[in-house]
Amino acid sequence: MTSVAPVPRLVEQFEHGLDAPICLTWELTYACNLACVHCLSSSGKRDPRELTTQQCKDIIDELERMQVFYVNIGGGEPTVRSDFWELVDYATAHHVGVKFSTNGVRITPEVATKLAASDYVDVQISLDGATAEINDAVRGPGSFAMAVRALENLKAAGFKDAKISVVVTRHNVDQLDDFKALADQYGATLRITRLRPSGRGADVWDELHPTAAQQRQLYDWLVAHGERVLTGDSFFHLSGLGEPGALAGLNLCGAGRVVCLIDPVGDVYACPFAIHDRFLAGNILSDSGFGAGFQNVWQNAPLFRELREPQSAGACGSCGHYDSCRGGCMAAKFFTGLPMDGPDPECVQGYGEPALALERDKPKPSVDHSRTAPRKGPVPLKLLTVPPKKFCNESPI
Ligand code: SF4
Ligand code: SF4
Repeated sequence: MTSVAPVPRLVEQFEHGLDAPICLTWELTYACNLACVHCLSSSGKRDPRELTTQQCKDIIDELERMQVFYVNIGGGEPTVRSDFWELVDYATAHHVGVKFSTNGVRITPEVATKLAASDYVDVQISLDGATAEINDAVRGPGSFAMAVRALENLKAAGFKDAKISVVVTRHNVDQLDDFKALADQYGATLRITRLRPSGRGADVWDELHPTAAQQRQLYDWLVAHGERVLTGDSFFHLSGLGEPGALAGLNLCGAGRVVCLIDPVGDVYACPFAIHDRFLAGNILSDSGFGAGFQNVWQNAPLFRELREPQSAGACGSCGHYDSCRGGCMAAKFFTGLPMDGPDPECVQGYGEPALALERDKPKPSVDHSRTAPRKGPVPLKLLTVPPKKFCNESPI
C-alpha cells in the first residue's frame, strides 16, 4: 500500500506563508481629497516619488506571473490618480482582478456604467456612519453625501454587489443594523473592520475604539449576522467571548504570511496597518540584497521569513483562548506601545486595559502625508452640516 503524505491544514499552510499573498493591498497614491481622522496611511498629499504608470504595469505583469488573482487597491483615494482607470483596465486584461476602496468622489454615473460592465472589478465604498452626523465627524463634512451618491450611481447603473466598508468605532457600533439596512437598500454587501491605531488612527484610537461593553455588543451582533457580513481578519481577537469558531473569518495574523502591502513608492510592508520601518520588508524597485521586484521581496525578505517562523505565545501562553485569539493583532499592539508577545490592547480577558494604563512608548508612523496638522481636540460629534464648496481646497495631487 502506498502511503500518502498528510495534507497540512489550511491554517498551517497560511502560518508558514504562501508563494503569493492571498490578500495583497496596493496603495496607489497617498493623495486624498478627504482627511479622515483615523486614516491608516496618514494620507493627504501625493508623494513625489509615486510609481509611474509603467512601473505599476510592470508590477501587474509580475502579479500575473505569480498568479495573484486579485488585488485590493486603496490609498489615499486611488481614483484621483489620472491613470487609475488605465491601470484597472490593464490589471483585468492581465487576469488580475481589482477590488478598489474609494470614498466615492469619482464614481459618477458614467464611471458606474463602465464598472457595471466588468466582471473583474469590485468597488468598496468607505462609510463610517449610517448618518451624516456620525460619518462626517471622522471622514469630513460632505463625505456621507458623497458616498451615498456613489452607491446610488452604482445601483442605477446595475452594478452588482458593491461593498460598504465600515470601520467600527465607539460612535457607530450602535448603527450596525442601520449599516446592514443601507447595504440591503443598495444591493451591496456590508464589510466591517476593526479600528487599528495605525497612521492617524494612532491619534484617535483611545477615544474612538469601542469600549469593552461595545466589544461584547459587536461580538453578539457578528454571531447573529456574521454569515452575511464580511470581516476579513478583523475580529479574531474577540473569539474568546464565545465558542471557538463562532466568528467567521481568518483567526490568524496573516502579516507577511498571506497579507502584505505595496505602498505608492513601491515599499512593501507586512500589512496595510503596519506602515512603519519595523515592518518594511523591502522596496520593489531596489535590490536590497535579495533581489528587486515584488516576488523577490515576498519570497525572500528576511522580515517575511521571520514572520513565517512559529511565533511565541509569550504572556498569552497560559490563556485558554489562545488557539482562537492568538494574542490578537500585531499592528494594534505595536502602535499602542504594547509588547508584541503580550495581549492585544482590546484583549477580551481584560489584560489590555491595565497594560494601556502604564507608561508606554507609542511608535510614530515612519511616513506621514497628511495635509493638516495633527488634531488637538477630541473628535467632535456635532458637525458642520453644510459641506464645503469644494471637498478639497488644496489639491492633493
Ligand atoms: S497585523 Fe493585525 S491587521 Fe495586520 S494582518 Fe496581523 S492581525 Fe491583521
Ligand atoms: S490573554 Fe491573549 S490570547 Fe487570551 S484573550 Fe487576551 S489577547 Fe487573546
